[in-house]
Amino acid sequence: MTKTIALVAHDAMKDKLVEWARSKKQELKHFEIYATGTTGGRLIDDLSLDVKRLKSGPLGGDAQLGAMIAEARLGGLFFFIDPLSTMPHDVDVKSLVRLATLYDTPMAVNQSTATAVLNHLVGEEV
Ligand code: PGA
Repeated sequence: MTKTIALVAHDAMKDKLVEWARSKKQELKHFEIYATGTTGGRLIDDLSLDVKRLKSGPLGGDAQLGAMIAEARLGGLFFFIDPLSTMPHDVDVKSLVRLATLYDTPMAVNQSTATAVLNHLVGEEV
């Protein structure tokens, strides 16, 4: 069964996530990919990645991903969090990270952990 992963990036981190995803395009093809709305738009427009878009993070997209984790429908979370800003939806971000921790979902919050987690998940797929 193809594993489902999610890609999310806060606005200040979107360029970084897109560049990381560009460099990992082959590896990402192993997975069914979900993304929050704006992040997903960038991945589709810039990289033509096959991505299923949820709502934008602040409008419920982070909560949708939390629900997927609670229902054991997400095998990995790649969330490029902005470490320098507070956001109106910080509570949703905290909830998503909490659920990923609770359910022991592989989670990456920056470029180097994203590469490590992706390599680990690809190893499980092949
Ligand atoms: P976005 O949401 O991809 O819709 O910008 C990400 C977030 O801020 O959680």
